[in-house]
Amino acid sequence: MPGAPTRVAYAYDRLRAYPPEVAGRIATAMGHAVAGRGEEPVLLELGVGTGRIALPLIARGYRYIALDLDPAMLEVFQRKAAGVMRKVRFLLADAREIPLPEASVHAVIAVHLWHLLPDWQRALAEALRVLKPGGVLLEGWDQLASGPECRLQERWRELLAEEGVLVERGLHRRRLSEVGEALRRLGLRPRTREVVAWREERTPREALEALSERLYSFTKGVPEEAHRRAMGRLGAWAEREFGDLDRPFPVEKRFFLRSTRLS
Ligand code: SAM
Repeated sequence: MPGAPTRVAYAYDRLRAYPPEVAGRIATAMGHAVAGRGEEPVLLELGVGTGRIALPLIARGYRYIALDLDPAMLEVFQRKAAGVMRKVRFLLADAREIPLPEASVHAVIAVHLWHLLPDWQRALAEALRVLKPGGVLLEGWDQLASGPECRLQERWRELLAEEGVLVERGLHRRRLSEVGEALRRLGLRPRTREVVAWREERTPREALEALSERLYSFTKGVPEEAHRRAMGRLGAWAEREFGDLDRPFPVEKRFFLRSTRLS
């Protein structure tokens, strides 16, 4: 039986996984960004999590440095990577202090990371330090269209507000624009494109689990007692709202990639 952090890491892995064809499209887009530069590229991912971005790239043979601060996330990733690990190096480290020499990698990948770091400027400076000239910073993110999942999250926020707890919204998007602005101030030219749009199915029970296990960063600062009470009330609300908690609803998603090449 895994301990609590590992159980949460497994829940993250299961509930935030990409369908295989989506993971493949993302890997192809990232692979194109590092193609054709002569040397065999070395990719570094900051905040690699359980490897949903990393594994398809590793399976395609890229040399990969997988960095994360959380041993439980790295442990789950290590187990998943066991069959394709030949070119992977794992780094239990802080993205704000990358234990690598300057100009040592061809790409730095950061997906859903900046908004977790109040001092993201340090991580960005480190990412640019370890990139080789001509290297590329690849930032990726998912976007969820409004629908039942958003309604559930919205109701969770309302219930917490009734407990006197305000949950900040829009941090992820705001942080991306702050990082983009910082890159432009350095004279760099970030370019964003939509890589893939897809539809998934999710049950209300899974959506409740993702909130209850705090798999989204916006849940992190909520005091445990208030979270527990709100989850109890949310469960009852979801039963009234959805009827059957195991009947899936569709979720529309998109993945965006912002590429910034160093000169
Ligand atoms: N990039 C992965 C993905 O898209 O599935 C994981 C995203 S998850 C939201 C954020 C990850 O960043 C977690 O695995 C967390 O442990 C890690 N993380 C948070 N702060 C970090 C830091 N300062 N240095 C390195 N990793 C960090």
